[in-house]
Amino acid sequence: MPNDQSIPNPTPPRRPPRLLTVSAARRLTPNMIRVTLTAPSLGDIPADRAGGHCKIMLPEPGQGRDTFARQLIDGPRPVTRTYTIRHARPDACEIDIDFVAHGDEGPASAWAGRAQPGDVLGFAGPGAPKLTDLEADFYLIAADMSALPVAAASLEALPCGATGIAIFEITSAEDRQEIAAPAGISQHWIIHADPHHRSLRQVEMIRAMPWPAGRMATMVAGETGVVRDLRLYLRGERGLDRRDVYASGYWRIGLAEDAHQKVKREEAEADEARLARIDGGSG
Ligand SMILES: Cc1cc2nc3c(=O)[nH]c(=O)nc-3n(C[C@H](O)[C@H](O)[C@H](O)COP(=O)(O)OP(=O)(O)OC[C@H]3O[C@@H](n4cnc5c(N)ncnc54)[C@H](O)[C@@H]3O)c2cc1C
Repeated sequence: MPNDQSIPNPTPPRRPPRLLTVSAARRLTPNMIRVTLTAPSLGDIPADRAGGHCKIMLPEPGQGRDTFARQLIDGPRPVTRTYTIRHARPDACEIDIDFVAHGDEGPASAWAGRAQPGDVLGFAGPGAPKLTDLEADFYLIAADMSALPVAAASLEALPCGATGIAIFEITSAEDRQEIAAPAGISQHWIIHADPHHRSLRQVEMIRAMPWPAGRMATMVAGETGVVRDLRLYLRGERGLDRRDVYASGYWRIGLAEDAHQKVKREEAEADEARLARIDGGSG
């Protein structure tokens, strides 16, 4: 079996899933696992796709490579989750994905915790990077551990003269990472030891910060309840333009991904209707 396959699908996505092989897996910090994946076809992923999302398809524990490769072709659809490309190294045909280690109740977290060289994963993507505005006057970034990869990749892609604030909510002090952000971005690391309880710290910090002059671009991602509060604050109370606000729920306390995505869509529609009423009212 070749170690890279383009797999046809009866209802083809834009590009068929690829079969990737783990080349390394290590604890980056106590609650984050970095998995390096390789396949010859990754040579076509541009390095600037770091920060783009991807879909990963997980084999069952103990499932062999050939059986999994057949399942990707014939179905049923394997367990699928959404992650971020932390680094893309097309010259080496490699990507890194950083997984929050939140225990074995989530198949993706459990898979990453067991990952070893030679293991396989289905992969679809990458999506586009999330923060593409490189000309804002001020950047506001807020992320929990699940969004640390997208926040770090976005910060590293900003022009060196960019200014702003980046707030990271992590599980322990040891989960802090070195991020090569522009010097004008102040980094703040908040410890929230139990992610299964909603944190108010990001919202409090952002509400309390002096509001900068000029046009702000934001990237807010993480637990959906926190992100929702921030989106309503930034759009509803601060009046930021929709195009300047990337605010995306990446997971939700107590819900696995499929259920979370459904609730997220419903809440986003309700929020947009609410924001439209505010806009209309202030008209
Ligand atoms: C665009 C996008 C990009 C993302 N990028 C990343 C990334 O790069 N790295 C990353 O780690 N996550 C990322 N996520 C979040 C990830 O998709 C979810 O955390 C997902 O639920 C993990 O799947 P799972 O199988 O481990 O857990 P699931 O089966 O989905 O959930 C099982 C249980 O675990 C809980 N849970 C899920 N995620 C977390 C968490 N982070 N902390 C604590 N409890 C949790 C759920 O509430 C649920 O109770 C991203 C999400 C999106 C939408």
